[in-house]
Amino acid sequence: MLVTDRSRILAFQRCPRQRYLAYHYDGTGIQRKGLSVPLVTGSMVHKGLELLLTGHTLSEALTIVLNDYDSTVQSRGFNLDNLNKGGDMMRQISHTYQEQRALVEGLIRVFDVYGKPLLLREYDVISVEGEINVPLAQGLTFMSRPDGVLRNKETGQIFSLSFKTASQFSRETHLAGQVDMQGKSESWAVQQQFPDEFIGGVQMFYLLKGRRKEEANGLYVQASGLVRPWFSEKNQSYAHTYYFKNPQTGSNSNIGTTYKPFNVWERSFGSFGQGVAGWVEMMRHGRVQPALGNPFKAFIEMPQPYYRNQAEIDEWMESVQAQEADVIDRLSVVEKNPNALIPLFPKHTDRCNDYGGCTFYGVCHQGEQFDNFVRREPHHTLETEIQCQN
Ligand code: SF4
Repeated sequence: MLVTDRSRILAFQRCPRQRYLAYHYDGTGIQRKGLSVPLVTGSMVHKGLELLLTGHTLSEALTIVLNDYDSTVQSRGFNLDNLNKGGDMMRQISHTYQEQRALVEGLIRVFDVYGKPLLLREYDVISVEGEINVPLAQGLTFMSRPDGVLRNKETGQIFSLSFKTASQFSRETHLAGQVDMQGKSESWAVQQQFPDEFIGGVQMFYLLKGRRKEEANGLYVQASGLVRPWFSEKNQSYAHTYYFKNPQTGSNSNIGTTYKPFNVWERSFGSFGQGVAGWVEMMRHGRVQPALGNPFKAFIEMPQPYYRNQAEIDEWMESVQAQEADVIDRLSVVEKNPNALIPLFPKHTDRCNDYGGCTFYGVCHQGEQFDNFVRREPHHTLETEIQCQN
């Protein structure tokens, strides 16, 4: 059985060589041994949110996720290739390990106190992380796994839920979400699962983790008020946001140079508690920049849902059916003649440096061999079953 999914389809559109290496090389595709920092953080946060939506307590969810984080990072390590190139690598690894662990915990805690009530005010949760496998074309199955399926409390319409960990939520993020393939592919897949229901579209839900940036000391840090906020010895006060709109004047302002950044996981917040738990509690009690209102809005954004458009879904379907049939044909040619890889899965080099750099940059441009790669782990149950059969 041949399978595809959203990630594969997008990989081919980004760069055919990336699609081949990630999903087809050596039968399964390959991935780096070391974990990508954004990917491990995103997948751990997803897991925590899923646990909270399926009846686990915050304490249970954090225990499961942070244990998983520790064992995953200890077994595979971070891929820090694009961080601290000339600096102190051990210091960077130690910082990133603790920082990303704190970020995972912080985003799960903020979802528990603010995000989950926000979501449940509008929706009932029908299912979480359910796998949907539907025929896309003759002999080709499309695998989909929405983060959740929701029912709008007011209209009764069904929406798929998509959690996104993003550095920030901007106008561009919103515009990109409106045309994101997920709005079409998941609306279509969920419709196949619930043929008698009206599918409204996709509800995206953003967990904002800030950008990674290099500080003056050469260390790469996550610029997030959740893990690296500011304290002013002079004012004896904390801040979660450096730049803000002055509520009185409406003008752009900042907290000033007396505030210095610190690591949340290393600090005690008195009666509010230690580390991330204490920091989130302190914010929850309105003790951090109270004039700016709800501090958790800096870390969570739930935009209006993206409503489905049947004409766009039909067009998407027709185009991906043609694309995936073409990919299958190209693969069968490359299987017989490896030299056909160059014309049939060309390198689209304008995408090599997107999102911190393509994981295959060394292979494509620096003569790197495949020693630092392992077989790609399947993301869907159906893929696992197929691999076990082969
Ligand atoms: S490094 Fe560039 S050419 Fe190579 S797979 Fe990645 S995006 Fe494609």
